[in-house]
Amino acid sequence: KSNNGKIDSLIFNYAADMSQLEEENRLLRETVNSLKNELHRLRRPPLMVCDVKEVMGEQAIIRIPNGNSFYVELTKDCIGKLQPGDFVLTEQKNLTIVKKIDSTKQFDVHKFVIIDKPKISWKEIGGLKDQIEEIKEVIELPLKKPELFKKIGIDPPKGILLYGPPGTGKTLLAKAVAKSTNATFIEIVGSELVQKFIGEGAKLVKEIFQLAKEKAPSIIFIDEIDALASMRMELGTSGEREVQRTFMQLLAEIDGFKSLGNVKVIGCTNRKDILDPAITRPGRLDRLIEVPDPDADGRLEIFKIHTKNMKFEKRKIKEIIKRVDGFSGAEVKAVCTEAGYFAIRDNRTKITSQDFFNAIEKIKNNKLKEDNSFVNMFG
Ligand code: ATP
Repeated sequence: KSNNGKIDSLIFNYAADMSQLEEENRLLRETVNSLKNELHRLRRPPLMVCDVKEVMGEQAIIRIPNGNSFYVELTKDCIGKLQPGDFVLTEQKNLTIVKKIDSTKQFDVHKFVIIDKPKISWKEIGGLKDQIEEIKEVIELPLKKPELFKKIGIDPPKGILLYGPPGTGKTLLAKAVAKSTNATFIEIVGSELVQKFIGEGAKLVKEIFQLAKEKAPSIIFIDEIDALASMRMELGTSGEREVQRTFMQLLAEIDGFKSLGNVKVIGCTNRKDILDPAITRPGRLDRLIEVPDPDADGRLEIFKIHTKNMKFEKRKIKEIIKRVDGFSGAEVKAVCTEAGYFAIRDNRTKITSQDFFNAIEKIKNNKLKEDNSFVNMFG
């Protein structure tokens, strides 16, 4: 009996050992399998990150990192899911597109745009009363009191277009409204977007709007918007097609966000005459605000703003203002700075009226020179 008991316990122990060994065996097999898979994964050749330029059904044109473009095939999974501007992974051998990369954050948008909290107040802008009123109504009020617009049931404009000759205070106006609404001011220059970011323009536009939403309330200020949004008769060169793509992306972004959102776009141009009307269609930058050269009252205000920290003879202000007839705000400011230099050269701290007159002559001569070189250049 006792022998039987011993045998039973031996069999029991043996069975327990067996199942333990089987378990260990199973675990080891799993480890070997996962290591095999890992090895297989690590042995795969690396995929290349490329840029989609155009998609045509099951084929696409991509740009590889060295800048060359190729016409390539898409794997089944990618068909219908790609659009120009996307980043994709491609096989190195035949450049077949295998996968779209979700994150478009390939470059740091902060590096390419100026992001600021401006400090210009309305008081630092001379003249332009009507323009300031209108901007307060269409940009400031909706950002400060969005609920008012909801209650009344109207959509405030998504953006405005400031147009007029150079140096009249368009940038100042945009910065002042950013300050009064405590908005992030994101500045981009149309011509830079076109020249510097060849192949990246559309993507940058997309990311700028994304950034503006993250940093809202914000104002996207597009200086020289005509460089992007000019009427083009033909789209011959690839450069022109690229500008067109960037412009299309801009329109898509403006159309894409809600008008009650707290992102506003301010476009700025000296060449309203060449603008593509698509940009000023209702629902886009549909408030056009002219910013002209200042009249006499405006010139006086601008003069006072830029001389507020200067010691000077006040007797002949009227004469000075008369002599700067036809000057822009920037030129009136330049007169003040130049007059200061005349005094410095003469070792004085007080500026005389003659300093101002000399400065006016100097700026006038500069203007003449600029006009002449323009005529020489363009006949
Ligand atoms: P551009 O079309 O060349 O970009 P702009 O219209 O945006 O010019 P600003 O950059 O706003 O012009 O003006 C240039 C400078 O001239 C300003 O920084 C400011 O010092 C001065 N200035 C222009 N207009 C005014 C103004 N109305 N009041 C006070 N300063 C002004």
